[in-house]
Amino acid sequence: MAETHHHHDHDAQDVRQLLHEHGLRYSRPRAAIVSFFQEEDKHVSAEELHEALCHRGEPLSLSTVYLNLGALEEAGLVREFQGNQGQKLFDSNVSPHYHLICKETGRVIDVPAPTVDGMPLGRFLKHTIEAATGWTVDEPQVQLRGTAPRVDPDA
Ligand SMILES: [Zn+2]
Repeated sequence: MAETHHHHDHDAQDVRQLLHEHGLRYSRPRAAIVSFFQEEDKHVSAEELHEALCHRGEPLSLSTVYLNLGALEEAGLVREFQGNQGQKLFDSNVSPHYHLICKETGRVIDVPAPTVDGMPLGRFLKHTIEAATGWTVDEPQVQLRGTAPRVDPDA
């Protein structure tokens, strides 16, 4: 079931349900992190998440944030990727998309995965290589670096 619950309506019951569907026990830290990702469509480091949760009145320790991000990632509720300085960033959008990362500012935007033969590019690669080699291949995570267009402040 690769459903995305990204812009799902959120109340405590939904979060409980969502955790349950992914084989995770409900806990307040997990619920706080999942709610954050449902409400803020962002890519954040564990430190940024820790800080944002403090602002929201959910003062979890940084190690609790790390621990729970790990559990959520394993359950397929968040995805981890590398930012422009090699730092770990987390994303709650687990649907097929790529990250376009600005080398100058570190800004990250989501771009939809192009499809080949009706499959997202990464999955197509996985299937093609598996068919050619007989190996079981992980779906590659494509990351694109570049430079965002400069925005003219007077425009
Ligand atoms: Zn993303």
